[in-house]
Amino acid sequence: AGHGTPDHRIALIPGDGIGTEVIPAARRVLDAVAVRHRLSLTYDTFDWSCARYLRDGAMMPEDGLETLRGYDAILLGAVGSPEVPDHVSLWGLLIPIRRGFQQYVNLRPVRVFEGVPSPVRGAEPGAVDFVVVRENVEGEYGEIGGRLNRGLPGELAVQEAVFTRTGVSRIVDYAFTLAGRRGGTLTSATKSNGIIHTMPFWDEIVAEHAAGHPQVAWHQEHIDALAAKFVLDPARFDVVVASNLFGDILSDLAAAVAGSIGIAPAANLNPERVFPSMFEPVHGSAPDIAGRGIANPLGAIWSAAMMLDHLGHAAAATRITDAIAAALATTPVRTPDLGGSATTDAFTDTVISLL
Ligand code: ATP
Ligand code: MG
Repeated sequence: AGHGTPDHRIALIPGDGIGTEVIPAARRVLDAVAVRHRLSLTYDTFDWSCARYLRDGAMMPEDGLETLRGYDAILLGAVGSPEVPDHVSLWGLLIPIRRGFQQYVNLRPVRVFEGVPSPVRGAEPGAVDFVVVRENVEGEYGEIGGRLNRGLPGELAVQEAVFTRTGVSRIVDYAFTLAGRRGGTLTSATKSNGIIHTMPFWDEIVAEHAAGHPQVAWHQEHIDALAAKFVLDPARFDVVVASNLFGDILSDLAAAVAGSIGIAPAANLNPERVFPSMFEPVHGSAPDIAGRGIANPLGAIWSAAMMLDHLGHAAAATRITDAIAAALATTPVRTPDLGGSATTDAFTDTVISLL
């Protein structure tokens, strides 16, 4: 154990498919950094997954949230299986954790690394470095609604979006504070020209918070134009704040701009730290490449770095992201999704050697 450093208890949920390959890789990097920074990290591993669902009928035990509550952070691989409908893995694990632990911030950093070609022309390495801040617990993804007149000419479906002052205020406040800390600008995604109740409400709350952060330059942009600019000029963004649906779409688009979905990390944060936060690569279980040892562990390793940052170890976190950048810029070692032939373990070893 380190001298005077608190112990951090980490819950590992590798999940399914390549989740079970990238989480051990991330853990190896964490252990190597922990030695250098005298951090004391202890882990418990949970087999909660679609595999468990197929075996026992549930993604996680009934008291799963109570169990996780005792940890300082959760590191998740991916859950998903061709044999299990997506809504089972979502509603059986991810959404209960996000909502139960009030992880209302979904943070997705985007970087174009030197040595990783972006599919976007003009996305120069180093120039693209921004963060999508997605509202993670309310908005468009709710349960209110229904379908009528199934199969009839008059069939219809209704889905309500719910935006609360509390919910919008706290995500917008988080985004302004983050932009202030980065010394950057804030872009708010809206669509108040077409969505005439919830989006004007969102815009009003953004404007209210702007008054409290006079040092942060900000503007709002309609989601359609904003999506186009993510592709045409990604270097102009710094912090982008968006509702649950808009943020979901923007962050996947941004991951594609960065060159591979295997790179992208995510944090589901409970900023008040009443509950543990959860860190996970953006990618899924990737059944098409699972079991071959060739998954890109970068997204999981970067997610682990975000976890250390959240736990108060910014220097250790930067050490990891610097090693990732150095591995890509100065060595040819990379996994097949980035055009290389290295295994998960070989890329992980390279990152560790550059820490
Ligand atoms: P799930 O249902 O779990 O979301 P999916 O197949 O729908 O799985 P992903 O797992 O994200 O979605 O996979 C999308 C594509 O990207 C697949 O072809 C997969 O092989 C590839 N991919 C995803 N993550 C990685 C990674 N870490 N390394 C290499 N390739 C990856
Ligand atoms: Mg998927």
